[in-house]
Amino acid sequence: EVDGKVTLRENRSPNGIVPTLKSFFSTAEKASWIAWKLAEDPANPEFERVIEVSDAYGTYNVSRLPLTFEQVSSFYHVSSKEAFWPILHSFKEKFNYDPVDWPTFREVNWAFAEAAAREAAQGARVWIHDYNLWLVPGYLRKLRSDVKISFFHHTPFPGADMFNVLPWRREIIASLLECDIIGFHIPRYAANFVSVARSLFDVETVERAALGPERISDGTALSERSAPTMLSYEGRKIAISAAAVGVNFDFIAGRASDPEVQADAQRIRESQAGRKLLLSVGRTDYTKGGVEQLESFERVLTDNPDLRGKVKLMHVSVSADRSMSAYAPIQTGIEETAGRINGRFGTLEWQPIALISRAIPFDDLIKYYLAADIAWITPLVDGMNLVCKEFVSARVDGDGVLVLSEFAGAAVELHSAVVTNPFSHRSMDSAILSAINMPEEERRNRMKNLRSVVSQFTVAHWGAEQQRQFDEVDRRKNELA
Ligand code: UDP
Repeated sequence: EVDGKVTLRENRSPNGIVPTLKSFFSTAEKASWIAWKLAEDPANPEFERVIEVSDAYGTYNVSRLPLTFEQVSSFYHVSSKEAFWPILHSFKEKFNYDPVDWPTFREVNWAFAEAAAREAAQGARVWIHDYNLWLVPGYLRKLRSDVKISFFHHTPFPGADMFNVLPWRREIIASLLECDIIGFHIPRYAANFVSVARSLFDVETVERAALGPERISDGTALSERSAPTMLSYEGRKIAISAAAVGVNFDFIAGRASDPEVQADAQRIRESQAGRKLLLSVGRTDYTKGGVEQLESFERVLTDNPDLRGKVKLMHVSVSADRSMSAYAPIQTGIEETAGRINGRFGTLEWQPIALISRAIPFDDLIKYYLAADIAWITPLVDGMNLVCKEFVSARVDGDGVLVLSEFAGAAVELHSAVVTNPFSHRSMDSAILSAINMPEEERRNRMKNLRSVVSQFTVAHWGAEQQRQFDEVDRRKNELA
């Protein structure tokens, strides 16, 4: 605590949601964020009422729910990561039923619902984030019938064939159907949700495309926008919306314009002595396609001997928490593949890959975004992917190429990237080759388009869109009253 302001310790393994919510809350007046913390005294856990927190993102109000180590491990590291995460990302074979402790998942969700019921003013808007809290809408509705509830999924959402693998599917979807609004990044996930809801309950589609932005791409109407967007169930109306989360463009561009950051970026570039720098950034997770990307790099070096010594791949793959055993095989896979490639092609002077497993502080990451020739972001599946939008925001010089998987939610908006299919060797290899060989004029044209999209559809835009949807719900309810 400094000068009466509280600073919270950063999570060791970064992900996209926390910076997103911080950016949102630092601009939202009268909003309070209910988060969790590890209970200092598990025998006597105390809920922490609203405190003001300040950090690089701004100042915002947070109240914190104490959870025991066992609760966090069970509801987050085990149930969420071993059972829900693989299904949400369509990895059926990674789904693990046995360790799931459903009573603890319910208990933690109930505690969040109670905390929200305590904090919320009469008729308040409660915005619930992500699948770890799937049961909160149902519980909260029981406690407080007056509040408006919206639930946002930060992940992809699969169709019924995949989702219904979850044995708790009816309880989860019944809870979500207590919301006023159910939000997703892109229309395809929203449409999948509708297919799941219809497969389990007698849900009717009453209206199409009534809520949500019509355009979330670079000027063209979103062709995938075929999701029916209003459901009716047991006399209630539920809006299904798609709004892609963005990044804090001005903040990132501001940091990237700082003379010290620019000088550091220049030093990184000079250290590469004319080599093209390829940058890949993500968490170590089977969804991120790390091994597939390294294998593509290996094929490209095999087939193009002239590139040896001329390109360098900085592969940042941040290791998962050690307690998450499900991630051990992918960590080994990445280390083995990168090691093999370095052994095969490396010399005393040149190693093709710099593998980095530690998290890079965000401010340093901006320097690498700025120094790189290419951002190579090829998840097999990814709800949105913020790294690619951060890279674009940082390119205040107007240069740099983005190679992006078509299975990242962001690909729906970022048409000017070199879009690739990470499941196709040919597509992957030709995409990175075309990025390496792309003439400057084309690079600049594409980057201009990318920057126009990313600067327009920011995290603030996404937050405002959520408020607009709440307003719309209020308007409709008043019309019906
Ligand atoms: N990140 C970071 N340091 C790293 C790697 C990632 O700060 O070494 C941050 C990155 O800037 C981004 C977030 O972690 O804000 C990753 O978000 P994304 O949506 O790309 O993926 P997620 O991890 O949420 O699946």
